[in-house]
Amino acid sequence: MISESLKELIINADCNAFFDEPMSLHTSFRIGGKTDCFCEVNTLESLKKIIAACRAEGTEYFIIGLGSNLLVSDNGLSGIVIKLGGDFEEISQEGENRIRCGAGISLAKLCLFAKNKGLGGAEFAWGIPGSVGGAVYMNAGAYGGEIKDIVVSSRYLDEDGNIRERIGEEHDFSYRHSIYCTRRETILDVTVELTPKSKNEIFYLMQDTMDKRKKKQPLNRPSAGSVFKRPTGHYAAALIEECGLKGVSVGDAQVSEKHSGFIVNNGKASAKDVKELICRVQQVVKEKTGVDLECEVKFVGEA
Ligand SMILES: Cc1cc2nc3c(=O)[nH]c(=O)nc-3n(C[C@H](O)[C@H](O)[C@H](O)COP(=O)(O)OP(=O)(O)OC[C@H]3O[C@@H](n4cnc5c(N)ncnc54)[C@H](O)[C@@H]3O)c2cc1C
Repeated sequence: MISESLKELIINADCNAFFDEPMSLHTSFRIGGKTDCFCEVNTLESLKKIIAACRAEGTEYFIIGLGSNLLVSDNGLSGIVIKLGGDFEEISQEGENRIRCGAGISLAKLCLFAKNKGLGGAEFAWGIPGSVGGAVYMNAGAYGGEIKDIVVSSRYLDEDGNIRERIGEEHDFSYRHSIYCTRRETILDVTVELTPKSKNEIFYLMQDTMDKRKKKQPLNRPSAGSVFKRPTGHYAAALIEECGLKGVSVGDAQVSEKHSGFIVNNGKASAKDVKELICRVQQVVKEKTGVDLECEVKFVGEA
């Protein structure tokens, strides 16, 4: 529930707000119950106002990127879900080799912008269906590259509404982790440093990455990508397959036949189905191989 005064503030702010909005419309899994308000915020001023009001009233708020690494509860997400749009989707070249991108912009747009400027280094991110903010939060990576390799700095809103900046190692990046995972801060924009490269070479690298994805991943079904982190010394998908779990399902949630590290939604899977399947996979893999599979996908929402 959100108060009438907060509702009014949101309606009058520079944002597009949807009340009682199903989160299944905003997650790549196509799963998730309703949120009290899904709010695409266009300006920093509006973002600050809305977060300050939430904090003053004790209303929950959650910053979402493109919802590609989330499993939202069937009971929904109370309070406000904030997506960064408008001004947060700007992108520009800074000096010769740097690009500054709003946190709301997709990695796809960053990759295309970089290619068109003849700047290489972001090709690994082609095909990761997240936003720049979500990628920094998660330290997203693929095919030998990670966002940490290119991030120079990020600006963020701290819990008290101050704009601050983090540089290089201050991000505390590690495998699928950044300092943002441990704070309630909103990433506003990110500066990356790339290297001059021919547009053709960048194009072929991007195409190669996408070909590999299409070959290996079930891109025709809703999912949140790899459900589990890579355990040290193993591949999650190989362990799951070894344990005979490929294709196993709970309701409409299924361990993908194409890539055992993915769980796909075959139609009407609920968050409960996915969670149950995750637990089953973790349990069997632990019993048969002794390896603990840790979730990469983030669970959010009401129990
Ligand atoms: C088909 C498919 C393939 C995938 N392949 C890969 C892959 O190769 N490599 C990989 O690493 N991941 C992969 N993923 C997972 C996912 O795309 C990444 O984790 C991505 O970085 C998530 O970004 P997002 O914008 O969707 O974040 P969301 O899923 O919306 O959010 C993830 C977390 O980031 C936080 N967050 C997002 N934006 C901000 C912000 N501005 N400020 C503060 N916090 C924020 C959220 O609160 C949440 O905790 C894949 C997913 C799918 C569906």
